[in-house]
Amino acid sequence: MAKTKVATVWLDACAGCHMSFLDIDEAIIELAGLVEFTRSPITDIKDFTPVDVGIVEGAVGNEDEEEVVKKLRENCKILMAWGDCACFGGVVSMRNLFEKEEVLRRCYVESESTGKGKIPSSKDIPPLLDKVKRVDEVVKVDCYVPGCPPSAKAIKYALEELLAGRIPILPSEVMRFD
Ligand code: SF4
Repeated sequence: MAKTKVATVWLDACAGCHMSFLDIDEAIIELAGLVEFTRSPITDIKDFTPVDVGIVEGAVGNEDEEEVVKKLRENCKILMAWGDCACFGGVVSMRNLFEKEEVLRRCYVESESTGKGKIPSSKDIPPLLDKVKRVDEVVKVDCYVPGCPPSAKAIKYALEELLAGRIPILPSEVMRFD
């Protein structure tokens, strides 16, 4: 039987959602028999190829992340948002309370640990968007796995439902809101 192809991306995020996925422990061995990971921080493959499921950790905070999530959407049949940052903006959207320039100045110039700081500028650094966006403000999302991070149980349940051909509706006992 052909394996289900899955790509995952990590945008404006802390990696906690991917770490929570790895917490499914030995179930990952069974999953490895059913799923082929293509582009993902897990495989370190950078190119997009068509997949069955695309998974997004993190919100959209800069122009590069906006491009990445659009490319993933173009290349997947089902797009799943993992974690509060992807689903709702989460902690990374706290910067939306301020102007982008204020955030950069506070971070790189005014912070107590900064000496003669300056705001970094290079063509290799993707420009920040004015405001952090939820993933579904940029592309269509088919299913959501909230939590910060989502529990390993929730991630496992969602993947199993997708592998069974169903869009997951998470039962409350696997949800985590802390
Ligand atoms: Fe990290 Fe929580 Fe955001 Fe996941 S939802 S990337 S764990 S801050």
